[in-house]
Amino acid sequence: MNRFSGTLHLAGDDGFEEACLGRVFNARRPSDRLPAAVLEARTEDDVVEGVRLALERGWQVAVRSGGHSWAAWSVRADALLIDLGGFRELAYDPTTELVTATPSVKGGDELNPYLGGFGRFFNGGHCPSVGIGGFLLQGGQGWNARGWGWAAENIVAVDVVTADGELVRADEERNSDLFWAARGAGPGFFGVVTRFHLRTRPLPGHLAHTVHAYPVELFDEVMTWLHGMHHTVSELVEIVALTQTPPGADAPVLLVTGVSMTDTPEQAAQALAPLHANPYAEQALLRIEARPTTLAEQLANQRTANPEGHRYLVDNAWLTGPAERVVPAIREAFTGHPTPGTFTIWFSMAPLRELPDMAFSLQSEIYCATYVVHDDPARDKELRAWLDSAMAAMQPVTVGQYLGDSDFTVRQLRFMGDAQWRRLQEIRADRDPEGLFAGYLSAGAVTNTNHWES
Ligand SMILES: Cc1cc2nc3c(=O)[nH]c(=O)nc-3n(C[C@H](O)[C@H](O)[C@H](O)COP(=O)(O)OP(=O)(O)OC[C@H]3O[C@@H](n4cnc5c(N)ncnc54)[C@H](O)[C@@H]3O)c2cc1C
Repeated sequence: MNRFSGTLHLAGDDGFEEACLGRVFNARRPSDRLPAAVLEARTEDDVVEGVRLALERGWQVAVRSGGHSWAAWSVRADALLIDLGGFRELAYDPTTELVTATPSVKGGDELNPYLGGFGRFFNGGHCPSVGIGGFLLQGGQGWNARGWGWAAENIVAVDVVTADGELVRADEERNSDLFWAARGAGPGFFGVVTRFHLRTRPLPGHLAHTVHAYPVELFDEVMTWLHGMHHTVSELVEIVALTQTPPGADAPVLLVTGVSMTDTPEQAAQALAPLHANPYAEQALLRIEARPTTLAEQLANQRTANPEGHRYLVDNAWLTGPAERVVPAIREAFTGHPTPGTFTIWFSMAPLRELPDMAFSLQSEIYCATYVVHDDPARDKELRAWLDSAMAAMQPVTVGQYLGDSDFTVRQLRFMGDAQWRRLQEIRADRDPEGLFAGYLSAGAVTNTNHWES
């Protein structure tokens, strides 16, 4: 008897490879580690039955929500891949202002348009198609993370199918160890989250944005200035500097951008004004200042910057130190792009906010990530070598990495505090002693250490 309302694909079945890889965002897909089977789950019961099937068959369990892991973490050899893509449910409760959403719901494409109808907002991922599942489990650097904090801080409860095949609720009181781990363990989490219960916030009344475009020759000057002032800007402004090659152009430009999340145009003008006082503003190629924008416009920009169907090589670092050390260390990543689609972001988290007690526990004032975008499989190795060397230049000012843009099969950096890492291992040993869940994908043992320090 079929025990699933969804579909179980076994290796060798028609369409098996498509079920394994078809929903992986990155076109650089790992066909060398296909799972034993894929369960396209439609309900919570499917997930429970899927975990029980894996226990019976001696498979590990891997999970996919939105499929946006750059490193395709959901594709694991000898595992049952539980794909939650067909299990999409959303419910907002106006009395508690909480929204309950299944993990494959897309933050920008689905959750926020739905919440907007109630005048509410959730700080989901920047690119609208990112699934909330993987995003929230690793912390979630959502809209205005600088001022509003990590998206995972807004999780009030999770429903989880555990390694025993039981569905449980985890929050501050019940199964609090699982609740603690679900906010930062990322792909090392030992359970399948079937629902998130999330705190929402009021939809900002007025969104505005500032964009200054500079020639990359001014990189050192502009970034040194930004480095010295970003911590003074209102916490209602998301500040991102990036280099990218605009459509139709033949060379990258440096964009210094601010998006303000205020309620009125006057508040927006005031919040963004410090970014307009850039001493190099007269040399800007383009200046947009405090122009009204919409969430839809911002999300469309993100979609354009992260086009689907391409090969991505991605790496990142949390940076710290004075401008005279940080700016030269990041120069190659920003100015030496090996393909026209490549872009590098500098994301302000300053002044740093204190984090609640949760597994997510490593950050610094500046987040830096490079996305090498291309289409030629023959260039993967050469482009990865460029990325490795650009990231190596940052080592002297690197404190660690963010799971969301990392790939442990290439290099390992710290991604948690030491105490949190120890606690996570203790909880895992207790909750999943047999290692049912596939856990971190890496070339060797995961040590939470910067590779040049181990
Ligand atoms: C275009 C693009 C833009 C991005 N923008 C941002 C951004 O703005 N901010 C940011 O923080 N990150 C961003 N990311 C990174 C993204 O958040 C992570 O890759 C995240 O893991 C994606 O979640 P997912 O559910 O779509 O991924 P998936 O590939 O489906 O999941 C990744 C892994 O998370 C675990 N997992 C997922 N769901 C569950 C579950 N229900 N239960 C248990 N484990 C689960 C599994 O180990 C799984 O393999 C972006 C990625 C892309 C491709």
